[in-house]
Amino acid sequence: MTLQRPAAVTDAFLETLVSRVPSTSGGTWKLTEVYTGEVLVELPQSTPADIERAFVAARAAQREWAQWPLKRRLGVFKKAHALFLDNAQTTADLIQVESGKNRRMAIEESCDPPMVMSHYIKRAPSLLAPTKRGGPVPFLTTSTEIRQPKGVVGVIAPWNFPFATGMSDAITALIAGNGIVLKPDNKTALSPLFGIQMLEQAGLPKGLFQVVCGEGPDIGPTLIDNANYVMFTGSTATGRVIGERAGRNLIGACLELGGKNPMIVLDDANIDEAVQGAVFGVFGNTGQICMHIERIYLPESRYEEFKAKFVRAAESLTVGASYDFGPEMGSLVSPDHKERVQSHVEDAVAKGATVVTGGKARPDLGPAFFEPTILEGVTKDMLAGATETFGPVVGLYCYRTVDEAIALANDTDYGLNASVWGTDLDRACAIAARIQSGNVNVNDILATAFASKGTPSGGVKQSGVGARHGDQGLLKYTDIQNLAVLKKQVMGAQPGQDYDSYVKSMLSGLKMMRRTGIR
Ligand code: NAD
Repeated sequence: MTLQRPAAVTDAFLETLVSRVPSTSGGTWKLTEVYTGEVLVELPQSTPADIERAFVAARAAQREWAQWPLKRRLGVFKKAHALFLDNAQTTADLIQVESGKNRRMAIEESCDPPMVMSHYIKRAPSLLAPTKRGGPVPFLTTSTEIRQPKGVVGVIAPWNFPFATGMSDAITALIAGNGIVLKPDNKTALSPLFGIQMLEQAGLPKGLFQVVCGEGPDIGPTLIDNANYVMFTGSTATGRVIGERAGRNLIGACLELGGKNPMIVLDDANIDEAVQGAVFGVFGNTGQICMHIERIYLPESRYEEFKAKFVRAAESLTVGASYDFGPEMGSLVSPDHKERVQSHVEDAVAKGATVVTGGKARPDLGPAFFEPTILEGVTKDMLAGATETFGPVVGLYCYRTVDEAIALANDTDYGLNASVWGTDLDRACAIAARIQSGNVNVNDILATAFASKGTPSGGVKQSGVGARHGDQGLLKYTDIQNLAVLKKQVMGAQPGQDYDSYVKSMLSGLKMMRRTGIR
């Protein structure tokens, strides 16, 4: 049976979407439907001069946008919130054709930007309002913290959540008064382009949100050299390159990078729930979630019980190419990525690991399908033991003591996400506190942490610098101006006052301020 492309994804629609991408060279990249490998559209590729022009246009629009009262800016996102939800199915169609993920994940992804908008529509007014602080001399001085937009933010997004990472971080920067130049991954440029179209339909000024496309190393240098701040989501290796260049330019960068995330199942865990969690944690989005689980640590007393149920669940997953809610797991993003996942499994097996289930590509389903795979005997000298596989592959490990489980969970360069399962919540939370990770979910895999938009979410160790969400997720896109006012000339010795008596009065004044609490 041939696969019917979603009705909304017409050639004319795709041509309109990509017509926004500048390319004076006329160069294009063949953007394909993952399930079939067929070319969907020729994606224009931007030159350094195109990128520079995109920044000039965004900067001109940003100067006006920053003058809009915040209430007016937020009005755009109130309208956009409704538009994004009304068009969730079309967004999911585009996410699916370009990434190959299953329908459930595509729809869930389409909901992330509206959740982010909802949070900051409520929170931005108090975060961006000027905050009066005390000055050094009570009553006669004031200091006010004023938040100003950085200017134009360069956003670099990966392919695994192209709509969420392309839109949500940009929307937050826009709310703070910035312009945007976005570089999506070539493979997955369609859904963010649709997002920009919806934002403009909601009233976002034209020109404020630019998009440029091309291979990362071709686009990156010009983009970073023109940006006032960089928001990057992607691999740790690329994050290091971006961070170095941003550092040289003395601009800030938020780097949201990879993980090798552990799940610890405690001896009092509800095993059925933990298995259900692990199925999503390992195979959700075909294992291509930065916060997903690649290592599961099980107590000796529950190892066999968990393993039997988990293997059964993995083997009963429906895997396939479909634009409806049928398949529980979709494709990997590309044949190249499938090769990478396969190489991790083959390397593990060659070095002594055992495939409990799965382990093979599924060319019968499409060019980039791979089976849900569970391994035992994975060690740190294997690719799958030390580096991020980013596919539907997990290693099972047995531990004797909780201290050993925590040490194993922390034995990694990464620190993005962890998951702890147990019915005694105090005990589980105490264990969570000992895990070196920017996010830890108790009795969940990742959604509880990631969907808590009021709390910053980021990685530690080699998993990142900075965070999205929470107050810092918005404030990072602002510079602080310390506006200080001296109402009377009282600093320093007064005319006729000798320096000794000035110092005496200043020191006793400081003591009095400490005692009275006046600042
Ligand atoms: P990647 O680093 O290869 O690419 C990410 C983006 O950077 C793409 O748009 C790519 O074109 C661009 N890029 C590549 N080289 C560049 C360069 N030299 N200069 C500028 N841009 C460049 O990562 P990927 O394979 O696309 O994405 C998967 C990775 O992203 C995984 O490691 C995953 O864990 C990580 N990720 C992290 C988060 C998070 O929030 N921490 C979220 C999603 C994905």
